[in-house]
Amino acid sequence: MSNLKTIDKEYVANTYARFPVEIVAGKGSLVYDDTGKEYIDMGSGIGVTSFGIADDGWKDAVIEQLGKVQHMSNLYYTEPCAKLAEILCKKTGMKKVFFANSGAEANEGAIKAARKYGAEKKGPGCYTIVTLKNSFHGRTITTLAATGQEHYHELFQPLTPGFVHAEANNIQDVTETALRNNAAAVMIECVQGEGGVIPLEKSFVQELAAFCKANDILLVVDEVQTGNGRTGKLYAYMNYDIQPDIVSTAKGVGGGLPLGAVLFGEKTEYVLGYGEHASTFGGNPICCAGAVSILSRIDDAFLQEVQEKSKFIFSAFEGAEGVEAVSGMGLMIGIKTVKPAGDVLKTCMENGVLALTAKDKLRLLPALNIPMETLQKAVAIIKQACAEE
Ligand code: PLP
Repeated sequence: MSNLKTIDKEYVANTYARFPVEIVAGKGSLVYDDTGKEYIDMGSGIGVTSFGIADDGWKDAVIEQLGKVQHMSNLYYTEPCAKLAEILCKKTGMKKVFFANSGAEANEGAIKAARKYGAEKKGPGCYTIVTLKNSFHGRTITTLAATGQEHYHELFQPLTPGFVHAEANNIQDVTETALRNNAAAVMIECVQGEGGVIPLEKSFVQELAAFCKANDILLVVDEVQTGNGRTGKLYAYMNYDIQPDIVSTAKGVGGGLPLGAVLFGEKTEYVLGYGEHASTFGGNPICCAGAVSILSRIDDAFLQEVQEKSKFIFSAFEGAEGVEAVSGMGLMIGIKTVKPAGDVLKTCMENGVLALTAKDKLRLLPALNIPMETLQKAVAIIKQACAEE
């Protein structure tokens, strides 16, 4: 490890503060470091490995496709891409899918479509996108502009123009901001993940959806972190009984390989035409084959289990020693700890649990299929870390 650490420090760009742990193997929700120490993975690569590490179904699908065609240009048809688009549309009621490789790239596609829709429907002055304060939409220059947190913006000015930020859960502020700016779209995360695992209020989201519909302003839902079963429904917007015009997703959809998707609804399915958007790797057959395996297993019975595990976590931490509050939805959980979250995280790691933070909270994003006994074990270790002096 010490040699690896030296090489990594010397040659890998200095953008990540890594923990001093090298993960070399894993299965499901258990991972192992180079000394053989076992950890329960309560972060799943920041919500990516939906069915855990080296899940058999996912692995078989990926390996099978690997032996057929690893990449083809989007100039040709490939089966996994078409199949995945069909599954996504049938499960959501959306009409068309554009495939990308990451959350930021999926959001870029959503933003381009929203701008084109606005210009076509209401003229060239209709391009602004309203996003929420405390939101997170990615790290590219445009998705940073969409992100409603000033500290991400500071070092990278000037950002892409055409974004304004309004107060979450304040329908008056969002609607007035949208009208004042001749907005093309409003973009939200139903649960603000990086912002501290904070679900939006149901009444706010429903009023916003009604406002957007009445004013022909697109409602874009960023499901990069919340999507693909994470919140106990296939997509988080389904907890709010709304139908967005555009949905972006990534992370968990690929189960561990890079894949992003933009889902277009009735109003937007034909907005982007030939040659207006593209991505060399978008819809890669291996990534899509893995995603078909993941998506086709997230059915109602599976989501019911996600909800039950969620209830278990909430009840274990609510009122527990060293815990101030619990927030989130499904298996996307934020725990406001009395001690600094970073200290709790460190203790968890020492005691064999990998977790995450989001702002001042401990964040849990376990694999959706984590076995109950493994979850119970992890929760006990985390509770102890929260309570310890
Ligand atoms: N949108 C949301 C809501 C996210 O949580 C993230 C990443 O954390 C992104 C976009 C960016 O995704 P990526 O890192 O895959 O570009």
